[in-house]
Formats: sequence, structure tokens, C-alpha cells
Amino acid sequence: MRLSQLCTHTMKEPPKGEVSRNARLLTQAGYVSRLMAGVYSYLPLGLRTLNKIETIIREEMNALGGQEVLMPALQPRENWETTGRWDKVDVLYKLGSGPIEKPEDYNLALGPTHEEIVTPLIANFVHSYRDLPVAVYQLQTKFRNEPRPKSGLLRGREFRMKDLYSFHADQNDLDSFYERSIQAYHSVYRRCGIGDKTLLTYASGGIFSKYSHEFQTLTPHGEDTVYRIAGTSIAINKEIIGDQEALREIIPNYQTGDEDRLEELKAIEVGNIFKLGSRFTEAFRSSFADKTGSQGKIVMGCYGMGPSRIMGTIVECLSDDKGLVWPEEIAPYTLGLLNLKHDDAETKRFCDALYEKLSSANVDVLYDDRSESAGVKFADMDLLGLPWQLIVGPRSFEQGLVELKCRATDKRATLAVDEVFEKLRNGNITL
Ligand code: ATP
Ligand code: MG
Repeated sequence: MRLSQLCTHTMKEPPKGEVSRNARLLTQAGYVSRLMAGVYSYLPLGLRTLNKIETIIREEMNALGGQEVLMPALQPRENWETTGRWDKVDVLYKLGSGPIEKPEDYNLALGPTHEEIVTPLIANFVHSYRDLPVAVYQLQTKFRNEPRPKSGLLRGREFRMKDLYSFHADQNDLDSFYERSIQAYHSVYRRCGIGDKTLLTYASGGIFSKYSHEFQTLTPHGEDTVYRIAGTSIAINKEIIGDQEALREIIPNYQTGDEDRLEELKAIEVGNIFKLGSRFTEAFRSSFADKTGSQGKIVMGCYGMGPSRIMGTIVECLSDDKGLVWPEEIAPYTLGLLNLKHDDAETKRFCDALYEKLSSANVDVLYDDRSESAGVKFADMDLLGLPWQLIVGPRSFEQGLVELKCRATDKRATLAVDEVFEKLRNGNITL
């Protein structure tokens, strides 16, 4: 992609009216644009990154055995009344397909989550134990009327979610799938570059299990508070910190009063998994014929993860005072090519040829071919946060030398063009 053709521009200053670091930087760099509080457009660079995050999630959910579906965002009131949640979920957006005069006229909801849809949908295909287990997931836009949508992509009123639902013949089968899902979640966060900061966090469960689990990414800008067990990557959330019995159960050799083994930290919840038991399958009167021929209860698990919140979290965790810093697997482009002598015909020809050659070697290149000063190009490329920069200056055309810079570490090396390709051929670039 040539930067001169990109439909967005960077801004000199962060936007007024955004307080969160992720929204300020992503807007300044032209990745997203706010329509209203908690509602954003994804522009070409931002959408490339969001899509890459969703591709990672898709790969890991497929590997876990999930089958991808896409369910409607527009949902009938009836399903929400069946589970008793029409009046309980306070962030539910309600709509009417006709004029609204009184609350009863609302007959539709915009999906904040999909238990009400997926349960009857899948249970309809489950007749006997042979039809179980089954897991389906989707990557979809969700709607929640969040009261304080001031944190950019971290808390949208319209946002992206991956939600997976698993259906099992018994609790043991649910338990083993649940354990495997934890590993799949860790793989996603590792590939997104926040694996080392993301803690498996015990949260309160419900009627069907004692605990649920959150995945919490440590950052001082997080809205949540977690308590890390010293020397581990496991934490406990605020809800259960006062429960001595739970602490004894979760923490090895825990004694009452051992609170100094818990470190209080700020974090962002990037995933949440939950054993639902038969809460929803009972509401929809779904069952199956077990091995003996009698009717069994289908037990469920739900597994949520927020791709758009992950994108915001990466910005909160990895960006620096010059701008964004993307891990290689989710950067919109791998390499930025900077022509510092755009007014020189020979250098321009050299750069154009290099751009073609890199593109045909399947490197995702963003080529700054604009007539801007070197200072503007350096600042913009740092703001955009691509992992690698290839800088073509006065010596390039005459001596065939270019500078390769790593955005995250600021390490640089002067290389012959062939050496750059040597590094690319070996798969990943290292300096
Ligand atoms: P929170 O406690 O932060 O409001 P939640 O517990 O209500 O979130 P879940 O219903 O568990 O969220 O949703 C699954 C995942 O979807 C969350 O772990 C998070 O990554 C993401 N998510 C939830 N709400 C939002 C939101 N408003 N904006 C962006 N992502 C969200
Ligand atoms: Mg949650």
C-alpha cells in the first residue's frame, strides 16, 4: 500500500474529547474514528489489525474443535422472556418493530450475548448422546448500553466479541473441555503479544460451579482490580478476595492472614469463561436421550473474548511516547518503507523497485511515497507503529545501502539491499 493513496491521514495532535490512551493514539494514527461515545468506525489500518486478531482467535477456536456460525444481532423478546432476562440485563438495548408508546411495545433486543439464541438453535439438533459434545462460536458485533463508555475500544456500546458455547452430556465432559479452552485462550493472548501480562483469574461462579475464570491483562490503565498470587501467573478477582475458604482452596498452603502473598494490581478483562450447567437448556426445555434411553440434561459452557477490547489493550500495554507499537502477527503492515529523498528521480526509482520487490516477496509493506519532509515521515511511521522500518536515504541509490530499524527496540542496522532480502527469506526479521 502506498501511503499517498491511503484514505486516512495522521493527526498532529491527539483528538480532543478522548481521555483513554488507546482511543487517543488509534484516532491520531487514523486507525479508528469515533461516531459517538463507545461507537467507533474501523478505518483501513485499524480493520487490518482487528481482522488479524480475529484470525488468530478463529484459528485457536477451530483447533479447540469449535465450529464457526453467525447468529443474528436482532433478537425476539420472547427468547429473553423464556430465560427471565428481558428485565434483568440492564445493558440490553430494546427496540420495537412498531411505534413505542409503552414498555410492552418493545419486542426486539440487540444482542449483548447469545445464550438466548444459541441454546434453542443447537439443542434442536441434539437428540441423543451421540450428538454431543458440540461447540459453536461466532465473531460478531455485540451491543450493550454501557453507562460509562469513556475508555475507547475497551468499553464499547457496539463492540466485537468472540463467543463460543459448548454443549455436553455430563459435567465431566464439560470440565475437560473447559480446561482445554483455558489453553486455547492463553495461545490467543500469547500470539497477540500480551501473553506475559495476562493472568488466569478466579472469579465467582454461579449455581452450577463455584468459580468462573477471567483473563486479566495487567496495565496501570485497567478498570479492574485483581490480586496476583505471588510468584505465579494466577490471580483472584475482587469478588472473591474476602472469601477465606476460596483463598484456601485456590492458593497452595494458604493460611488465614496470608494476604501479603497477594499483590493488588490494575488489569483489563480480555476474556471470561463460565460453566453454565443446565441454566439455559432447562429454560428452553432441551434434553437428549442418554445411553440408557432416558432423558438427560444438556450442560453448557460459554467462553467470551473481546477482539476490539484486545486491540485497545495491546495499545494500552505496548505503545510508547512516539506512538503505537504492534507485535508482528497483528500489525496492519509488517514493514514501513520510507523514501527520504522523494524529490530525487533516481532515489524514487530505487524505492519504487524495492517496493515492488518486497511486495512480490509477500512482505506486507506500507510505502511512504509522499512529498513530505524526513521529519514528518519519521514521526508518522513511529506513530503508526509497524514493527519494521526500511529507510531509504541519500546513500541508498549510490551505494545500495538502506537502514533497517526495529520500532519496538529502536535497534538499527545499515544493510545492503540483498541482506534485507536475506533476512526476509528466513521468515522473520531479526536485528
Ligand atoms: P465487563 O465486566 O468488563 O463489563 P463482562 O464481564 O460483562 O465485561 P462478558 O459478558 O464476559 O463481559 O463478555 C466477554 C468478553 O467480551 C469480555 O471478557 C471482554 O473481553 C469483551 N467485552 C465485554 N464488554 C465489552 C465492551 N463493552 N466493549 C468491548 N469489549 C467488551
Ligand atoms: Mg466478565
